[in-house]
Amino acid sequence: MTYRSDDGRLRPGVLEGDMIRAIATATLREYLELAPHERVAWHTADELVALQSVTLDAPVRPSRNVFCVGRNYLEHAKEGARAAGRELKLPNVPTFFTKAPTAIAAPAADLRLEARVSREYDFEAELAVVIGAECKDVPEDQALHVVFGYTALNDITARDLQREHGQWFKGKSLDSTCPIGPWIVTPDEVGDAQALAISFHRNGVEKQNSNTGKMIFPVARVIAELSKGLTLLPGDIIATGTPEGVGFARNPPEFLADGDLLDVWIEKIGHLKNTVTIA
Ligand code: MG
Repeated sequence: MTYRSDDGRLRPGVLEGDMIRAIATATLREYLELAPHERVAWHTADELVALQSVTLDAPVRPSRNVFCVGRNYLEHAKEGARAAGRELKLPNVPTFFTKAPTAIAAPAADLRLEARVSREYDFEAELAVVIGAECKDVPEDQALHVVFGYTALNDITARDLQREHGQWFKGKSLDSTCPIGPWIVTPDEVGDAQALAISFHRNGVEKQNSNTGKMIFPVARVIAELSKGLTLLPGDIIATGTPEGVGFARNPPEFLADGDLLDVWIEKIGHLKNTVTIA
């Protein structure tokens, strides 16, 4: 996790009960860039603060774009095809796209979205993977060894731009459209990442409710495919796709409105809650 300490600085830390123990590196990414056996020495800074007393930032800020998988839940792929009047065609490999790092926002942040840019901001609750080691060509049966941990992510999407631009990047990369957090939970605590309940509530009303076991391409396969000929770096984030229930596929379609409360929940990880200001 990353929090703002009393002196106003952002610091990485580890949650111990309801206290945060500071990590002595400047950022969590710098900590992940250390070899695992070197991390121990940086782990025991004296600062101990109450979780309640601090503001959390995005748990990690990657050195480059957030990797994402599109249409990774069958029911979401179906609802998307239905809404677009297309025939459903499932790919043999994950559909990758990215979000700009400037889209990343803090857990609990008020997301300031611009009405002049889009009229169709939509939500997508997703399990995100944080990479803990530089790696390339990772076999699927080894892929979970490069995972540092898991967090929640809301892949907020400007649907009008996504359609208009053909290529998804623009509609997926606007400022503040990638809140993540509240923290990263390590695999020993998560257990089976393909057996987590995942839900999304807008203003207290359930809109998405599924399980990560329904992914078309599970986390290990996603890492194996993405890392083929492409080096992954410590601190890289991979958003693994959203289940059904998103706004644009509803009848009638629903988009985010000024003042909305967004709540992504993932079992074993917790709530990622943000408010939205659209102006
Ligand atoms: Mg998505």
